[in-house]
Amino acid sequence: MIRKMKEADGAELCAIWLSANLEAHSFIPAEYWLGSLEAVRRALPQAEVFIYENSGHIEGFIGMNGSCIEGLFVRSGARSRGVGAALLEHVRQRKPYLTLYVYQKNRRAVRFYERSGFEKRSFGKEEATGEEEYRMEWRGPACKEGIMGYTIISGDITTQHADAIVNAANTSLLGGGGVDGAIHRAAGPELLRECRTLHGCRTGEVKITKGYRLPARYVIHTPGPVWRGGNAGEDELLAGSYRSSLRLAAENGAKTVAFPSISTGVYRFPLERAARIATETVCGFLREHPDMSVTMVCFDERTKAAYEKALAEYGSPPKK
Ligand code: ADP
Repeated sequence: MIRKMKEADGAELCAIWLSANLEAHSFIPAEYWLGSLEAVRRALPQAEVFIYENSGHIEGFIGMNGSCIEGLFVRSGARSRGVGAALLEHVRQRKPYLTLYVYQKNRRAVRFYERSGFEKRSFGKEEATGEEEYRMEWRGPACKEGIMGYTIISGDITTQHADAIVNAANTSLLGGGGVDGAIHRAAGPELLRECRTLHGCRTGEVKITKGYRLPARYVIHTPGPVWRGGNAGEDELLAGSYRSSLRLAAENGAKTVAFPSISTGVYRFPLERAARIATETVCGFLREHPDMSVTMVCFDERTKAAYEKALAEYGSPPKK
């Protein structure tokens, strides 16, 4: 039987997580997994986790963040019994598409996902371990054109291992609060130094810098519009921020791009409306650029729910 995680499952899931990772990834030092265990223990209660249980025993589990499979683990005594396949099928029935990262050297897992209908979409180095990994995707029958390559997650954009992250900047480009402040803090003072040479940026337009101490190679800075009631061109300006960011990323060879929810913080753009515009613009772009992928990094659950709703409604006729 497959069920949702309960709080009391935490310790057992951590034990399965650790032994499965140690076993599958002998090419990564054991200290790396031991050092990550505490973060996993803290993250589990917030994640969407499904557990495979057999006569009261946990045989395996799958952890989801939106459409992204964070991990699929099977207890060592329960291998080759279809536990992994059953968990995968469970989430396949609930999501229009799935994406995940898998180490190139974990051939067994790569083969498993390929047999399960996943395709390799991109290839790159994971910063934390230095290991090459594939990004793989599965596209369900209900998956609409353009949403392949688009993932919504909750998280902090400053920790994203994307080729480029987008900064919801202000027109001075000299730093500010919210996500802008967080990016400058994480990138270090060299970012501000480079920003000073750019002489600002107009609303809806973009400028690019290096990522400095961030895991991302580039930062694309775009001031989104301040909400003034909706009759000051806010919609077009917001779409411009997303479209121009993606074009500039493509011009610089950045294939993976992470966005925050532009303008929906201090700039007060209504969240649902912003999410719809972002989804239409990003998915429209991805249709023309199937080699690229975009992650929407939501800092709180309300924001994530709004982007998930916009994605579920994307491509449907507008409501009257
Ligand atoms: P704006 O001025 O464009 O409205 P804000 O930074 O005020 O920009 O907010 C934009 C969004 O970014 C909000 O949803 C806010 O919660 C979110 N945010 C703040 N910090 C981070 C972060 N570190 N990573 C991702 N999103 C963040």
